[in-house]
Amino acid sequence: MTLIDNHLPTAELQALDAAHHIHPFTANTALGKKGTRVITQASGVYLTDSDGERILDGMSGLWCVNIGYGRKELADVASAQMNQLPYYNTFFQTSHPPVIALAARLAELMPGDLNHVFFAGSGSEANDTNIRMVRHYWALKGKPTKKTIISRKNAYHGSSMGSASLGGMQGMHAQGGMPIPDVTHIDQPHWYSEGGDMSPEEFGLHCARKLEAEIDRLGEDNVAAFIAEPIQGAGAVIIPAETYWPEIQRICDEREILLIADEVICGFGRTGNWFGSDTFNISPDIMTIAKGLSSGYLPIGGSVVTDEIAEVIGSDEFNHGYTYSGHPVACAVALENLRILEEEKIVDYARDDIGPYLQKKWMALADHALVGEARMTGMMGAIELSPDKVNRAAFASDKGTVGFIAREHSFGNNLIMRHVGDAMIICPPLVLSHDEADILVDRAVKTLDQTHKYLKKNGMMVSA
Ligand SMILES: *Cc1c(COP(=O)(O)O)cnc(C)c1O
Repeated sequence: MTLIDNHLPTAELQALDAAHHIHPFTANTALGKKGTRVITQASGVYLTDSDGERILDGMSGLWCVNIGYGRKELADVASAQMNQLPYYNTFFQTSHPPVIALAARLAELMPGDLNHVFFAGSGSEANDTNIRMVRHYWALKGKPTKKTIISRKNAYHGSSMGSASLGGMQGMHAQGGMPIPDVTHIDQPHWYSEGGDMSPEEFGLHCARKLEAEIDRLGEDNVAAFIAEPIQGAGAVIIPAETYWPEIQRICDEREILLIADEVICGFGRTGNWFGSDTFNISPDIMTIAKGLSSGYLPIGGSVVTDEIAEVIGSDEFNHGYTYSGHPVACAVALENLRILEEEKIVDYARDDIGPYLQKKWMALADHALVGEARMTGMMGAIELSPDKVNRAAFASDKGTVGFIAREHSFGNNLIMRHVGDAMIICPPLVLSHDEADILVDRAVKTLDQTHKYLKKNGMMVSA
């Protein structure tokens, strides 16, 4: 058996990585000089690196390892499925038991009449599917001009040409000719940095109504859909005010447009319910899923659609699909992940136990001198770093400079926190214990203290 192990010393692994591996979202030359951290194994909420350090993973990998690492059941299911049927496609009027079982299970779990799944290999692929599906849907209904998809600035919907166009990240649009035509972006409901003097509730309504204005600007006959994450994840865990989603829902109900909830992060327990749509009482026409669907153990994503959309799309051949749509091993692993989430009541644990426990400690970080705001829903949270917390001021340094310094301290403290600009975010496995939550917050406090000290020493506690 060829198991790639840490049989090489760290420096050699780093040198080979620098020589041959191009990392995503990374300045690779600089990383090559510094040396990557090599993760060799993981169990529960802890990673181990090639130097034997144990690191608390406050990000669940990339927002995906909801059930934690090292669940042997998933490995066993993958092995059994590989032996029985490692691959078959679902294109040519064929199917197989794992894809049938997973589609049926998802239909049970989904809110409303979201009963039909088009499988993909990732969230990006699923959102690409959504672009084509909503446009094709309207064409089949005799309304081919309804093509434009409205999204939000600073949204993240994936990294392919289509999904990154739906996303609202300027740095991504700047590379490679995006957005594709007929995608527009309205403001995000990010009260901390954009709410000014409005109350969060006023600002939530104000942002939601931008959707109505954008539909009017474009003409309803030209709009296919609105896409949004219930809580923006990569944007910096942006939790909209309570007023936001009801107003968005009202607008989508009144206007003839489809609502796509991108639940790639929010789905499968992350917000304390099975779906973010449950938490915010959203009734989407399409839901994008990936990440927590398999807890990241294998790549799989999908678009889940209503009975009505499935019927319209089904009336014609949809010229679209991926080699790995409904991959049997990925489906079997996802099913086993869903079984564990359900039977071990992990979603209930996130909602009623560890979620509230961690939230209380996390929200208290707002008292720290460096923190302008703390926010958290379910098991995803953020703290905004500020040189002047009373005025929610940004730092004079380039955006992200301070966040990066804090992240380096956090890594040094063996806690994975991510920074988005100058906000620090967490999204730990849902199976985090109380003791582990205590350790997470202790390390976060230590990180804040070290960062604060560093900023003061270097004259960086200065407002923009
Ligand atoms: C990660 C993410 C995606 C993209 O998923 P990939 O599997 O990385 O392609 C899409 N939408 C949201 C909200 C995400 O967080």
